[in-house]
Amino acid sequence: MTTSRLALDGDPRLLQLSDDVYVFGTYPYSGLIVTDEGCIAIDGPMSVNICAPWKEFIDSKGPLRYQVYCEHHSDHTISAPYLEPEVLISSETTRGVMDTDEMAREALRTWGEYRDVDPAIVENYTMAYPTLTYRGRLNLELGGKRFVIFEAPGHTMGSTVVHAVDDRVAFIADLGMTPAIQSGDPVAWLTTLALLETLDVDWYVQGHMDPMRRDDLHTWRTMLLATLDKVRERAGAGLSAKDIIAESPIFDIPAILASHSFVGRGDMPAGLLEAAGDILQVVGAERMVESVHRHPTDSPSASLGPVSTQE
Ligand SMILES: [Zn+2]
Repeated sequence: MTTSRLALDGDPRLLQLSDDVYVFGTYPYSGLIVTDEGCIAIDGPMSVNICAPWKEFIDSKGPLRYQVYCEHHSDHTISAPYLEPEVLISSETTRGVMDTDEMAREALRTWGEYRDVDPAIVENYTMAYPTLTYRGRLNLELGGKRFVIFEAPGHTMGSTVVHAVDDRVAFIADLGMTPAIQSGDPVAWLTTLALLETLDVDWYVQGHMDPMRRDDLHTWRTMLLATLDKVRERAGAGLSAKDIIAESPIFDIPAILASHSFVGRGDMPAGLLEAAGDILQVVGAERMVESVHRHPTDSPSASLGPVSTQE
């Protein structure tokens, strides 16, 4: 514990949702729950330089007992070597498709590049891998608080939600308003969102915009369903994913980004949106076309194992 001034004191990106729950609004949004027996972190910054003030903040609250990686995408799986949790947790499905060291370095050199990071740090980067994996659900108690950690396929097939039951918060990472379905499945995502709406919580902390309320989650589910309807109609008229995109993008990304407050906008890597645009639209449309060509009950779920692609 320290009482001296911290780098994040007074930083507008540091959001406090309740006595013991903090969110660092960076890229991606990173969560922290404090208990009497130590802390649990959810995800963490992609930039190694931005990890430093977050680690200082966490250390001021107590030992970092657990960190949870909510998905395998590189932006969510860089920080553990810097935050140094005692135990790193992910779903087995996520663990199965995580980056190799070289894949992580390539992400840090390209779409995830931060120009203020020393290139030597990137070239020497090595991954930390989970020391505890689960399938289905993991119940955890720390400092008298209950946590239900569960697989929630949709954005990726191994996505994890951390439900901090006693703090009334769910950390849902990119299952929120992130228009990226390239590693996931739309029917699984819609099903997961319906489940999330039934959680008894005050906040949903998402990966790439400010925390949401239940109404925001409902708005997003409705938007995702409307997108799937549009793809079904166009695919039914014989259009391929590429044809559908040529008519109009499936996701109106600028409108989505403008639809919700977003204190972490300035921390996105400079090349991200340019590099991601095609993947989000073209591969996203492919996932949707695949899904409208099968019955919803045939949609893959996490229980079938790692089906995510790395792209
Ligand atoms: Zn993601």
